[in-house]
Amino acid sequence: MKIAIPTDLLPRDGRFGSGPSRQRPGQLERALEASGRILGTSHRQPPVKNAVARIRSGLAELFAIPDGYEILLGNGGASLIWDALAFTGVDSHAQAAVCGEFTAKAASAVAKAPWAQCTRIQSPPGSLAVCDDGLPADAYLYAHNETSTGVLSPVRRFTGAAGGNAGGAALTFVDATSAAGGVEVDVASTDLYYFSPQKCFGAEGGLWLAAASPAALARAGRLAAQRPVPAILDLSLAAKNSRANQTLNTPSLVNLLLIADQAEWMLEEGGLAAMEARTRESSGVLYRWAEASDFAEPFAQPGARSNLVVTIDLDASVPSEALRGHLRANGIVDVDPYRSLGRNQIRVGTFPNVPAEDVAALTACIDYVAERMA
Ligand SMILES: *Cc1c(COP(=O)(O)O)cnc(C)c1O
Repeated sequence: MKIAIPTDLLPRDGRFGSGPSRQRPGQLERALEASGRILGTSHRQPPVKNAVARIRSGLAELFAIPDGYEILLGNGGASLIWDALAFTGVDSHAQAAVCGEFTAKAASAVAKAPWAQCTRIQSPPGSLAVCDDGLPADAYLYAHNETSTGVLSPVRRFTGAAGGNAGGAALTFVDATSAAGGVEVDVASTDLYYFSPQKCFGAEGGLWLAAASPAALARAGRLAAQRPVPAILDLSLAAKNSRANQTLNTPSLVNLLLIADQAEWMLEEGGLAAMEARTRESSGVLYRWAEASDFAEPFAQPGARSNLVVTIDLDASVPSEALRGHLRANGIVDVDPYRSLGRNQIRVGTFPNVPAEDVAALTACIDYVAERMA
């Protein structure tokens, strides 16, 4: 059975994924236009280095990075940073707050290093796991936003108050992949605030970006000198290349231009405060709709609900897979729950590029389909 949603109910853009996510109108066109003049030329020359410089200065301003902090970037995405942390971030004892798939992956990447152990602070999906300052560690790991469950964490520094780590002060490493650019943050309370650009920045995957503290840079330099470290996982080498507005190896130019465009737009609109206002408005539409609906309810616990990724449980009378099939046939895509969560759920990315009007239209379309599925 086909359900045709009336066109006046449809959102202007049907992309609601939690990453990769939609581009802003004009973002891709401008990136393609600018890349057309320099694609196929050396990334070691000024035209491409200028694109990297735009990103580094744009992000430095957007995140108001403190003196001594630096914007780093490299190929490989946030997943690569988990391995880089194992090599040039963690001395010997990490602690990881785990409340979903992405935080779990970060913890297991670090735990694989033969020189490191990783203590997990775990909480059930939909709730927030928080590191424990009372348990000593030299590195604390958590996500600003756990994308698999739609849980937002406060961002703060963990110092390992109980002491006892040989490598000096503890460092705080925050996976900000689905948060960076959509919510306010004080990066001074982190040592590495790292992310991929295919979520709030509406760009493509394949690259990672980060704000790094002087302490993180110093530790990376020390560890790279004392361990065998693959070049691509060496954060001190990434810093060296970034300072020269380069990456260790060849980056995607169109991607750099997409990111630069988005960072500049975010600043023009009023920076992180304005982006958080947008994402709160869009996510609020969904949470209020779910609370009022007789077949939907928010999944994440009230104090932990994300303004960037909204997870909503559905009543058994509205099977998510069938609902998503009907939505997709009408051009509304990627509201899938995280694969392994195994719930009758939808999950919606409410990043800065997703206007509240489109989210309101999405809820109207879901209501329309659900009524006709019954
Ligand atoms: C998407 C995501 C990642 C993975 O990013 P890649 O660019 O695919 O490596 C990691 N962490 C979080 C929190 C994410 O949302």
